[in-house]
Amino acid sequence: MSYIVVGNSAAGLFAVEEIRRHDTQSELIVLTAEQEPSYSRCLTTYFLAGDIPVSQLYLRNTDFAQRLNLKIVYGVKVNWIDPTLQIVRSADGREGHYSKLLLAMGSSAHKPSIPGGNLPEVFTLRTMEDALAINKVLEQGAQKAVVIGGGLVSLKSAYALKKRGLDVTVVVSSRQILSQMLDLKEANLIQEYLRVNGLKFLLQTDVLSITGESHVQGVLTSPQTELAADMVIIGKGVRPNIEDLSEFGFNIGQGLQVDSSLATNLPNIYAAGDIAETWDFVPQRFTVNATWPNATTQGRIAGANMCGRKEFYAGSLGLNSVDFFGLSAMSVGITKFQDIKEPENWEQEENLKMEGDNPIYRKLIWQKNVSSLTLNLREENNSSLTPIQDSPLYILKGFVLIGDTSQGGVLTALVKAGRPLTLAQRKLALGRRGQLAVEIIK
Ligand SMILES: Cc1cc2nc3c(=O)[nH]c(=O)nc-3n(C[C@H](O)[C@H](O)[C@H](O)COP(=O)(O)OP(=O)(O)OC[C@H]3O[C@@H](n4cnc5c(N)ncnc54)[C@H](O)[C@@H]3O)c2cc1C
Repeated sequence: MSYIVVGNSAAGLFAVEEIRRHDTQSELIVLTAEQEPSYSRCLTTYFLAGDIPVSQLYLRNTDFAQRLNLKIVYGVKVNWIDPTLQIVRSADGREGHYSKLLLAMGSSAHKPSIPGGNLPEVFTLRTMEDALAINKVLEQGAQKAVVIGGGLVSLKSAYALKKRGLDVTVVVSSRQILSQMLDLKEANLIQEYLRVNGLKFLLQTDVLSITGESHVQGVLTSPQTELAADMVIIGKGVRPNIEDLSEFGFNIGQGLQVDSSLATNLPNIYAAGDIAETWDFVPQRFTVNATWPNATTQGRIAGANMCGRKEFYAGSLGLNSVDFFGLSAMSVGITKFQDIKEPENWEQEENLKMEGDNPIYRKLIWQKNVSSLTLNLREENNSSLTPIQDSPLYILKGFVLIGDTSQGGVLTALVKAGRPLTLAQRKLALGRRGQLAVEIIK
């Protein structure tokens, strides 16, 4: 038996550790395009902010490969697979034979073509190499930055640059930030908090070009404004690294399509992490849920199944969690009521209070299952022992928390459990003893 894992990040790392739990002897090779040992991409903005040293990005000790008896080959870009002969080949012509192959090649930052986009101080932030290059420009004394895009990576980058003392403007083409995870009202709460903490925003504004001869001098936008800038970070989303894989017979949708064992349609080839299109069990559709926890879980389960285990992957979950200048925010599952097709079967519960400038906000989205079930339960505060007839049941399908995310764990467990709750259980689960309630409901 010989295993090849392509990718040395969240999915690849958890896969090799799992493989070694079941098979300590067989040949295990990791191929990675980067030159770095496994590190956390999620923490790169904290490094840029000056919150942590670069050494804290690394995920395992230097003796990791030796301890696990595996070979890691750095700087190898795999671009050819022969599924019949079970061979992978790299761009520089190196070949390897596998019995089982995991593709954990993740995704890359999307860099739209913008005039001036090739100037040396224009960056995307995906890799350690990107982070180190950005840090170098910061150390050279950059004072003004423009961040293009209003998603999580853009805002985390903007936060980092602001913390390093730069004057930062975030330019967003749509009318709100964080449009993937929040509705307009929630986005405005966070934007206002960020504005109070010194970030500037231009919404509904397109970038026409980045100006400067040999170095960045500014960003030209429409409506016509020129923003002075020493550096630009483009955060316009990510794309799964599937572009080299189209000709080998894979079923490809948004990413490599996998089944509930994380196997692709080709024999002995698995996929996990940002490259894989998996079942999202909340909206009940196939999608790429590009987050660290989804990648590690998928990597672990793929690794087990590559060793002949029969582990079932129930599906991925859309989950985002972030902290800006002390304001935490979290979104899980279905978070936008306006996107729901039959809203009459759904309910949204919202609470907002302000503590000074700090919003404390919670939104819960429930699917109402009104199909009549007779339950042997009593409503809270009701001393009658009469069973409730035709009581509606509620399934928590998603939530947004801003300012206080302490209930995030309990609510995520409820979304994952997908268990219908009566009104009484729903109140109990959200109450002071919520954690206890989740244990009871399990
Ligand atoms: C700045 C930033 C902040 C983030 N913050 C969060 C967060 O707070 N929470 C969260 O859940 N997620 C966050 N993410 C997303 C998270 O990092 C990803 O979901 C996660 O890294 C996916 O892991 P992966 O193993 O699938 O792929 P990746 O991390 O993309 O790793 C892919 C691996 O494959 C290798 N590779 C790629 N192509 C090839 C090839 N052709 N041949 C060989 N090797 C190849 C790469 O070198 C790398 O080792 C953030 C991402 C970024 C960039």
